[in-house]
Amino acid sequence: MALAGILSAQSPAVQKAMASRLPADPNRVYSTFNTVLIDKELAPGVFAVFADDAFERGEKGLQVSTSSGYVIGEKGVLVIDAQQTKRLATNLIELIKEKTDKPILYVVNTNYYGDHSFGNQFFVAEGFRIINNGTKIIQHENAQKMIQNHFEEDRVFEYTLSARKEDVAEMQPTPADILITGQAVSKTVIDLGDKQVEIIYPGRTQTDGNLFVYLPKEKVLFGGNSIPSGGKVVGMPWLTYGGLDEFLKSLQVLRKMLASDSQIGSGHGYPTDIKALDNIIVYFQDLQKSVRQAVNKGLDLAQTKIKVKQDLEKYRNHTLFEMIQDLNIEKTYQEYKTVTPKTK
Ligand SMILES: [Zn+2]
Repeated sequence: MALAGILSAQSPAVQKAMASRLPADPNRVYSTFNTVLIDKELAPGVFAVFADDAFERGEKGLQVSTSSGYVIGEKGVLVIDAQQTKRLATNLIELIKEKTDKPILYVVNTNYYGDHSFGNQFFVAEGFRIINNGTKIIQHENAQKMIQNHFEEDRVFEYTLSARKEDVAEMQPTPADILITGQAVSKTVIDLGDKQVEIIYPGRTQTDGNLFVYLPKEKVLFGGNSIPSGGKVVGMPWLTYGGLDEFLKSLQVLRKMLASDSQIGSGHGYPTDIKALDNIIVYFQDLQKSVRQAVNKGLDLAQTKIKVKQDLEKYRNHTLFEMIQDLNIEKTYQEYKTVTPKTK
């Protein structure tokens, strides 16, 4: 009875996703087959999409399933991140269809990873391509290169970490229709009629192909993996490719482009505000300072890890603290060992 009460309060799209939900696997950072996507309107026609357990998991410092977003304009819809599996892409598409019958004109991938881009093929297959010249996929050229050249690696990565093997077996790379090119800071404006959507490349962040989506009038940013979450646990991005100094600089460039009362759709969590970005900038500054000191003192990597983790003690409420610091310290240590420190 109680369960029926909860289900009837949800929209049909959410109820359908709940009905196909499987138990979570505690050995995975999150379980896509357990994820149910819900949405929240942050500004008129601007929706954040996130897992229904995002708040509960996020406040415990647990990794949360991938978020998305969508913007309904006069001309049609722009989607931010296509999700990871057919079940989740369908969940997202059905949430959109409950709000509008306008065509989905664009899907922006904020990065190449499968949890943000594997779902592209379902937007294309939805038949929207026939309307208004079809759904156009937007990627940075470096994200497209990764999708074309490392798809199998990413398939393994996704099913090892979060999805079931059979759920990603059918995935195929979907080429972009619109490419954002170059490493220079850029802003591409997509006109949805009553809404202007900025696709921002602020320089290299989590990878050399991460995009940010911003609505300047509505003051909403979609941050992807570079702003993984908000709330009381600081969402620390993984320096998968290293380059802390560049990542930090790019986030500071991005920050200057945003209104100070902006809301943020995070990459792996519930919607948050500009503080989430400011907290990441501070975390990176803390990491930068601590690793720089260790390198200047001549500490080896093992000693550096001990010192930096002590310095970063205040971030320990994140469940993946050890894993993230091991990676981020190692990458930054290598970066600072190879680049001669600037003399003061
Ligand atoms: Zn992600």
